Amino acid sequence: MNIITSIEDMQKLAAEVREKRKTIGFVPTMGNLHKGHASLINKAKTTSDFVVVSVFVNPTQFGPNEDYETYPRTLDEDAKLVEDLGADVLFSPSVTDMYPLDNPILVHVTQGVDVLCGEKRPGHFDGVATILTKLFHIVSPHHVYFGLKDAQQVAIVQQLIQDFHFQIQLFPCPLIREEDGLAMSSRNSKLSAEERKEALHLNRALKLGESLIEKGEKSSDVIKSSITRYFYENLILGEVDYVDILRYPELKPAAELSGQVIIACAVKYKQARLIDNRILMIPAPKEALGYAKTYDEK
Ligand code: AMP
Repeated sequence: MNIITSIEDMQKLAAEVREKRKTIGFVPTMGNLHKGHASLINKAKTTSDFVVVSVFVNPTQFGPNEDYETYPRTLDEDAKLVEDLGADVLFSPSVTDMYPLDNPILVHVTQGVDVLCGEKRPGHFDGVATILTKLFHIVSPHHVYFGLKDAQQVAIVQQLIQDFHFQIQLFPCPLIREEDGLAMSSRNSKLSAEERKEALHLNRALKLGESLIEKGEKSSDVIKSSITRYFYENLILGEVDYVDILRYPELKPAAELSGQVIIACAVKYKQARLIDNRILMIPAPKEALGYAKTYDEK
């Protein structure tokens, strides 16, 4: 495997690969890789000819009081994993190379950012869209792979690709969990043993919401308040940042739930803010099915 730190070298190699008519699959990450990241790399391996994984802790997507400085950086271990998984390149540029001019131009996201992490982390998705625009130009991928662990990010990146006319196909990949149900995250390593135990309630709270929907509950307010009450009764160390249910991928609220929806939550612990979500399909109401049937039979 090739480890590249220079932007120019990465661009040159990408051009050579494209010249050979090979497809480039790209997995952007902030490193401290785990099985969630590995699942994206594996997907890239099976769907692209040449796989590039980037490791870059992107300063512009962190707020002033967030964990940019303490974000876990484990490049040597990451390189080993990326090599073991059979990727072709680990691209790990420096901050000064990626941002040489003190951010004179940033990409500004205006839709889908008034909810969930976008609302709670102002400017976060501007930073994400900015770094991805740069990385897409450098790596020049045909395919990009993103995890539904960050479902809002998937929806926004899809919009970025469309709006900026990138000729890139996005593969959304399933959220990978620990055996006990905790969503895998680089930030889990910053939890104390007690917090780690308590964090299991994120997945359980979302499951509760899902089971209410399966029983036929259609009101987002009812489901939201059940989840909020569950957190109130079960969290001692963590503080709820948000609980929401939205249409997905539109990221719009709907009082009466139907179609594909996301139930999402964020909980803050001392050194780590955790997010989790479940995306599910709500079957159309009987009357709607009845209407569709009549229409088909015409
Ligand atoms: P990060 O390094 O946290 O920026 O994540 C890089 C990519 O890995 C993003 O597309 C994430 O959504 C994805 N990812 C992180 N954790 C998971 C997980 N538990 N399951 C699936 N994908 C994940």
